[in-house]
Amino acid sequence: MSEEKVLEQTSIEATSPFELRLNLGTGVPENAVKTALTTGDMGFLHSFTTGSTVDGPGVRLVAWTAGCQWRCLYCHNPDTWSMVNGMPVTLDHAIDEVRKYRHGLKVMSGGLTLSGGEPLMQDRFAVRLLTAVKKMGVHTAIETNGYLGDRLTDEEIEQIDLVLLGLKTAPARHLHLTGKEMGPTLEFAQRLSRLGRKIWVRFVLVPGLTDDPENIGEIAKFAASLGNVERVEVLPFHQMGKYKWKELKLNYTLDSTEQAPRELVERACAQFRAEGLKAD
Ligand code: SF4
Repeated sequence: MSEEKVLEQTSIEATSPFELRLNLGTGVPENAVKTALTTGDMGFLHSFTTGSTVDGPGVRLVAWTAGCQWRCLYCHNPDTWSMVNGMPVTLDHAIDEVRKYRHGLKVMSGGLTLSGGEPLMQDRFAVRLLTAVKKMGVHTAIETNGYLGDRLTDEEIEQIDLVLLGLKTAPARHLHLTGKEMGPTLEFAQRLSRLGRKIWVRFVLVPGLTDDPENIGEIAKFAASLGNVERVEVLPFHQMGKYKWKELKLNYTLDSTEQAPRELVERACAQFRAEGLKAD
């Protein structure tokens, strides 16, 4: 199916990433997907959303990419796991979408954030889009789990002004929580440190899953050891993505988990601050 045909049916702009979007890439021939992944000429996106103040500095335009190889138990957007659920969007179209907003983004000290899903599943598309956006003078950020960081050269990393790096839990529980080992994420964080690139750590606080002080202490120590972490964002778990798990008939194990209360968030922030980090 051509990009135009798909776009006839669904707008690339969504009001929120919590919109359930399925099968927007069905019909794209397998070889076209392979070519897209190799060249970055086309990407697969859940959507663009505008006006975010929680995905990087200032006001952000966010491109939500499709495809993630992790399976975090608390994932809010499991519809972004499969690339087939993403809308095929040419690189030029994606660049034009950012160009529309570039003046406003600069005025509001914001920029473009590539999120997902895992944007580095489509590393060529990500690099080419971020490079074009940076050339417009717009701030670039990527929200990533870091697992595929070795797909980027040092020069490509320079196109990213800020990495929002998800540190989900300490290594011992990482496989259980995400389905993958933490080693590549830790290595990517250390590489960003060596390169002097800025990181904001994102840590989702899930009662009964990630909230014990020993776990948080271990993450805080690692983050502090890097020396390039500008900020830690402690994000209280919520249930807004639960309906997606149900719609997709996935086994959701956090049905009875409460949203993290303010005191718990404060306690976690205090642990990060005790290591000399700015946390909120
Ligand atoms: S890394 Fe992000 S998108 Fe992937 S499963 Fe985890 S929370 Fe979901």
